[in-house]
Amino acid sequence: MKNFDWIVIGAGITGSALSYELAKKGLKVLLLEKDPNYSNATRYSYGGVAYWSGTDDFSNKLCQESREIHHNLSQELGYNTEFRELDLMLTMPADKDPEMIAEDYQKFLIKPQLLTPKEAIEIEPLLNTDAISGCLKLPHGHIHPQKTNNGYQQAFLKLGGTINYEEVSQLLSQNTIITGVKTPQEEYFSENVVICAGGLSHSLLKSIGIAVNIYFTHSQLILTSTVDINLKTLVMPAILNRLDIEEKSGDLELESLWNHPSDEIISDVMEPGAIQFRDGHFCLGQISQIITNPQANFDRHLAEKTIREGVGKILPKLENLPGKLHNCLVAFCPGANFLVGKIDHFQGLHLFSGFTSTFVFAPPLAKRFASWVTEDAEKMPSLLS
Ligand SMILES: Cc1cc2nc3c(=O)[nH]c(=O)nc-3n(C[C@H](O)[C@H](O)[C@H](O)COP(=O)(O)OP(=O)(O)OC[C@H]3O[C@@H](n4cnc5c(N)ncnc54)[C@H](O)[C@@H]3O)c2cc1C
Repeated sequence: MKNFDWIVIGAGITGSALSYELAKKGLKVLLLEKDPNYSNATRYSYGGVAYWSGTDDFSNKLCQESREIHHNLSQELGYNTEFRELDLMLTMPADKDPEMIAEDYQKFLIKPQLLTPKEAIEIEPLLNTDAISGCLKLPHGHIHPQKTNNGYQQAFLKLGGTINYEEVSQLLSQNTIITGVKTPQEEYFSENVVICAGGLSHSLLKSIGIAVNIYFTHSQLILTSTVDINLKTLVMPAILNRLDIEEKSGDLELESLWNHPSDEIISDVMEPGAIQFRDGHFCLGQISQIITNPQANFDRHLAEKTIREGVGKILPKLENLPGKLHNCLVAFCPGANFLVGKIDHFQGLHLFSGFTSTFVFAPPLAKRFASWVTEDAEKMPSLLS
């Protein structure tokens, strides 16, 4: 029988950051991860830190805290996260009115600069000006996501934390009080469990009859080898259709589809984007699909073709770079930036997942979460189940 103060399920960026912050408060923490290869959303992401994206007092404050955290994180963790400041170039389709799109961005903490195609290509020479009506330029942060994850984990281990590679197959409870978790190898006991299982958070909660508004997309992307081309900025579309399909997926009608997982593609968007990492390799993205079965298969050939053609239209030199297709699940919660707090009516069970801009919001919220646990329990938000 093994006892811990806290058990954290899932060692992507959310679980790793939170485990570290809990351990920093002197708590005995177990972090459980099912996949030693980390084929997860954290590994396959662009690593953008959207510290401009706050829309109210609380999210603005988190954005400011996050920027400061990322600036100091390599030093704090003793591990290079490869943080840098870089421009985010949000491309606008040739047939759309740039002024109207720019209007949608006026709600954010930092307002973008509207650039004509000619101005945009001076900043990002790889852009195809024929394919765009302009760009929105924003100051953005960038990290190496997997290195940042490793950094949190190494610092967590130094604080005495435990990481075991085991899949949580069951949440253990007595009535509505959490008592621990079960894996195929072992039972672990704790009065506090937090779910950071990314796209699989939904099914873990469902397994004990808890319905929370958290879902997932299937995402596909290409990682290239190191190449001798220089992309200066992070390029993404200004119109994020993914947010639309995520918003709609919380409808009551669709809710019933999530209760009966199938391989049907409910919606499907391609958002051409690209980032180059410090070692010269690219991540080219990204297809997002709503398919309710987390294990659903997809057409790899079609996905690769769609990403290459989509990226090639905006950034022609990147279309045929040698690379490999990957896929992962990405958690989201419709209409909110994240789901963080204790699950109402289920003592000891918590959720830290469903982030929209995970790399900006998870690090400051992990700090706050650890402070709520140790100093200010009343401030911990309640999540309705
Ligand atoms: C192409 C692409 C680009 C992106 N770009 C950005 C970006 O620029 N900025 C940004 O903020 N976000 C971006 N994202 C989104 C971001 O990557 C994710 O939101 C984030 O990584 C999610 O972290 P997570 O810890 O919630 O999930 P994950 O990284 O998926 O980690 C969850 C972990 O839980 C484990 N797990 C699940 N179930 C169990 C279980 N039962 N037992 C044990 N372990 C379990 C999984 O194996 C997994 O390792 C991007 C995503 C993609 C795909």
